[in-house]
Amino acid sequence: MKVHGSCHCGHVSFEADVDPDKVALCHCTDCQVSTGSAFRTNVPVPGNTFRMLSGEPTIYIKTTAESGNPRTQAFCPTCGTSIYSTTPGDGPQASYMVRVGTLRERDKLVPKVQNWFRSAQPWVTAIGALRKNEKGAV
Ligand SMILES: [Zn+2]
Ligand SMILES: [Zn+2]
Repeated sequence: MKVHGSCHCGHVSFEADVDPDKVALCHCTDCQVSTGSAFRTNVPVPGNTFRMLSGEPTIYIKTTAESGNPRTQAFCPTCGTSIYSTTPGDGPQASYMVRVGTLRERDKLVPKVQNWFRSAQPWVTAIGALRKNEKGAV
């Protein structure tokens, strides 16, 4: 499935092909901190289908909490939107973990699995029961 991605300010844009069956939530503690939220939604992208259309993301090399391995985190230098993670190195990489929220087609990309559930926030399974406002808090 062809997807079109952009950061919030529009500086960084890209396109890619994804398998909708591979959309996953990540509850790892690194994702909790770097998103500022409870979990992240990712979809893997084969490197040969990932095409940057505009902008150049800023790179942060994190040391992964569990493995100690370095991992490239790409985000917009202007608005800070997370774009993808990949293996460190120059030039195209074999695969990218793209942040589903950046994709225009995100409504069609439904998570199929929850990874790192051992560190999931205990309330995530109960959010369906929370009171719902159609707009922001009132
Ligand atoms: Zn931006
Ligand atoms: Zn994670």
